[in-house]
Amino acid sequence: MIELKNVSKWYGSFQVLNDCSTRIKKGEVVVVCGPSGSGKSTLIKTINALEPIQKGEIWVNGTAVHDTKHTNLPKLRSTVGMVFQHFELFPHLTVTENLTIAQIKVLGRSPDEAKVRGLKMLDRVGLMAHKDKVPGQLSGGQQQRVAIARALSMDPNVMLFDEPTSALDPEMVGEVLDVMVSLANEGMTMMCVTHEMGFAKKVASRVIFMDVGGKILEDCTKEDFFGNPDARQPRTKDFLSKIL
Ligand code: ADP
Ligand code: MG
Repeated sequence: MIELKNVSKWYGSFQVLNDCSTRIKKGEVVVVCGPSGSGKSTLIKTINALEPIQKGEIWVNGTAVHDTKHTNLPKLRSTVGMVFQHFELFPHLTVTENLTIAQIKVLGRSPDEAKVRGLKMLDRVGLMAHKDKVPGQLSGGQQQRVAIARALSMDPNVMLFDEPTSALDPEMVGEVLDVMVSLANEGMTMMCVTHEMGFAKKVASRVIFMDVGGKILEDCTKEDFFGNPDARQPRTKDFLSKIL
């Protein structure tokens, strides 16, 4: 479903991704971890073309994302849902409006159709009672669940998450992870940048570890990642010893 082939990217002369290759099959949940500044956010953003690359290839559902001139970006982004660390909901719109606006503008759905779909997804994340509020009236955890519902309203076939719980107060992390776990269990293809290793142990098919310099240092099953420390790179072991 997603394939990265020898992807490299530079900001000016600074190399942020260094020859990254990986594949994500339908239904796989891939957790990406690694130290701050290792290029995790950049990597995930290249997949829906929020960041261009200078070298290599990125394929999503048969679309050549690296071929920026010929890629239909709105179509790509509607099939690839993205959830960020800082929810990025429209603060002046109600929850329902946040859920429907992209469906109407990008997918061309009627307002009624968009509302039915949006509210169904809002119900799925357990927030139906809040449909007429604005984001500022919700807790951080609730806002992030709305952001997930918004992405799901677009009927994506892949979901990308970039540290979706790292800006939340600790007591709100669980409710967001619960939604992500249920998505994973329903077979959604997911790539999640997160340091929630409990989540990784529960649902990850594979774990990717990135190191500074934008290199993928490990790309292995969660069983190997967590269960076979002696086979891991020293940098990975060091990192795990700090966060586990
Ligand atoms: P991570 O998500 O792993 O913390 P990022 O992908 O955000 O890492 O960033 C990787 C590196 O690229 C960092 O050193 C960061 O400072 C740098 N970087 C990120 N965005 C930009 C940008 N727009 N311009 C220049 N450097 C950037
Ligand atoms: Mg990041």
